[in-house]
Amino acid sequence: MGMHEYSEATDELAQSVFEYALDRIRMEPPIDTPVAADRLGEAVGMTITEEGLGGAAALAIFADHLAPACLSVDHPRYFAWVPCAPTDAAVLFDLVVGASAMSATWWFDGAGAIYAENQALRWIADLAGMPETAGGCFVSGGTMGNLSALVAARDKAVRRRGGTHKRPGRWAVVASEDAHSSVSSAARVMDVDVLLAPTGPDRRLRGDAVAEAVATRPEGTEVFAVVATSGTTNLGVVDALDEVASVAAANSLWFHVDGAYGAAGLAAGSIRHLFNGIEHCDSLIVDPHKWLFAPYDCAALLYRDPDDARRAHTQEAGYLESINERGEWNPSDYAHHLSRRPRGLPFWFSLTVHGTRSYSEAVEQTLAVTRAGAALIEAAPHLDLIMEPTLSILAFRRTGWTLEQYASWSDSLLTEGSALVVPTSVDGAPALRFCMVNPRTTVEDLEVVLDTLA
Ligand SMILES: *Cc1c(COP(=O)(O)O)cnc(C)c1O
Repeated sequence: MGMHEYSEATDELAQSVFEYALDRIRMEPPIDTPVAADRLGEAVGMTITEEGLGGAAALAIFADHLAPACLSVDHPRYFAWVPCAPTDAAVLFDLVVGASAMSATWWFDGAGAIYAENQALRWIADLAGMPETAGGCFVSGGTMGNLSALVAARDKAVRRRGGTHKRPGRWAVVASEDAHSSVSSAARVMDVDVLLAPTGPDRRLRGDAVAEAVATRPEGTEVFAVVATSGTTNLGVVDALDEVASVAAANSLWFHVDGAYGAAGLAAGSIRHLFNGIEHCDSLIVDPHKWLFAPYDCAALLYRDPDDARRAHTQEAGYLESINERGEWNPSDYAHHLSRRPRGLPFWFSLTVHGTRSYSEAVEQTLAVTRAGAALIEAAPHLDLIMEPTLSILAFRRTGWTLEQYASWSDSLLTEGSALVVPTSVDGAPALRFCMVNPRTTVEDLEVVLDTLA
């Protein structure tokens, strides 16, 4: 009996797996708690054996011990970092993608999946006002998106200089001091420098700061790109994209917009104006696994001119020649990856099922709850709102509290299973931060948590 052979046991296992999945989709999930490795070791022991445990036992270990040791990021009071709140349609379709044995590496092997993924990418490109020729692919996350975009940007700068033998002393990218950590991580991988531009009193990166950073670059350093963030992960600040775009154009720099978290706000009419200037970007990332209701791992990466990316990323090898010669749209050409699952399909399916208006409404819903939360904080004498929220992040302080007090309050919420909020730091001082991407989060959810700070 080979394990690839379909049998009655497969049927039984399918029943249990589908039941488990349906239960999880139906229920209000507990937040659950992190568990130390030694405790998991005691409870579960070694799961991989020579003979195998069989489907029922393996699923039971997962359901009873492993899943409860993972936090439910879709819980309506999971406010830490950036949560994930996939639609039921998206989650269900992840099961279908898993069952379909599809590679969406090349058009040749994944035409149908890639066709659908490209329509989902097109929706985002249209929201951003990118040209008809824009395109890209879905990658694992914003980190991979930022790296892939900057690699394409540097490659273009190298070509413009006439090849690698004419490289400058150092390549550099300009980014705000509040840019995401993945930008400096990409720069380390690429062995390029990051010239940090300070943000203004409104916490946004402005054009003059970018121009100043370019003008004062160290001798022998050539700037090839500028990264603007829309919006920042800590506070949801959207940089002055129109200003940064003009400075980038004036200096012939690649203009990359990191909208991993916040560019979902493009779908919300009430804040669309904050993103003016995004249409000039050379590349853009948005993570549907953050505020566009797709399961992990799903980040959209778009280029104004996909040829720039293709020249930088296409892998050459004897066994790939027949694919590269076809001249078709191969997602493998647009990022630092090769084999890939069609990870954009759960997002595409949900968009197709519900329509784009539902997406706009769901983003607006989280914005409305955030604004109501800001009013609650402003009305509470013991709470200080750090800034009016522009996107769906509330940052505030409990008067007089130290980091230790924030931390123990945070621990007790998690122990009670009522919410997950972790302290952050703003302007060098501890603060609390609620990040909301879940349309099921209500103002009452916020009240319940804020009340415990009285
Ligand atoms: C989350 C985030 C990233 C990184 O995205 P991952 O999907 O976690 O790799 C990059 N930039 C910003 C602004 C983010 O909020």
